[in-house]
Amino acid sequence: MQHIKNCTEYVIEQRMDEMQKRFNFCNCEICREDVACYVLNRLPPKYYRSDNGKIYSIVQSISHQYETDILMLFSQAAEIIKNNPRH
Ligand SMILES: [Zn+2]
Repeated sequence: MQHIKNCTEYVIEQRMDEMQKRFNFCNCEICREDVACYVLNRLPPKYYRSDNGKIYSIVQSISHQYETDILMLFSQAAEIIKNNPRH
């Protein structure tokens, strides 16, 4: 099972910098990871086999599909992290 990855993790990782600036939550590692956990726990995982070199197109299509959910979840996570920072 070592080639099976959750593509949603890549999508969130790729969007993290943009979302941090957009929603202005703390940029420290703890807060970024708390935000990532919040979002990832609420998005359905998308598993794929990582050995076919198609990761980029998969990430793009999933990112597009999740766009509204990603924005909403990052927004919610930012509020929670701002109100209850754990750093
Ligand atoms: Zn922080």
